[in-house]
Amino acid sequence: MKNTENPVVSIHYTLTNKAGEQLDSSIGAEPLTYLHGAGNIIPGLENALADKTVGDKLTVTIEPEDAYGERNEEHIQTVPREMFQGIDNIEVGMQFQADSSNGPAVVTITAVEGDQVSIDGNHPLAGEQLTFDVEITEIRSATETEMEHGHIHGAGCNHD
Ligand code: ZN
Repeated sequence: MKNTENPVVSIHYTLTNKAGEQLDSSIGAEPLTYLHGAGNIIPGLENALADKTVGDKLTVTIEPEDAYGERNEEHIQTVPREMFQGIDNIEVGMQFQADSSNGPAVVTITAVEGDQVSIDGNHPLAGEQLTFDVEITEIRSATETEMEHGHIHGAGCNHD
């Protein structure tokens, strides 16, 4: 089956940054399964996987604008520690889910000084050029409900 009209695609991938460091890999774990054409993965990768078939292997290098965007210094803020009530140990590197004007975002604590906490709302991979080594392992048709919801169901589903 060919990857055309909104199919469900499973891939094994290894992700490296510009320095060649491995950031993530599905090898040895479950493949990543996504609904093609629904914007569920970064645009650069989704575009590269269009019209591919099971067994195809590709290496694709993606600039930040087609990955997680450029870093935006306005997303770095200093907030009072009391905003983190209920958390005893605020440490650099901790990540929280927060609401932003663009929907849910992950913020990372970048510094703690006294009562002041610096947070960075940029995606951890913002500004990074990313290279994916990808193999397509499976392609199936999307169900009607999956098309309606704009994401896959079953293994890897993001709601109950
Ligand atoms: Zn759903």
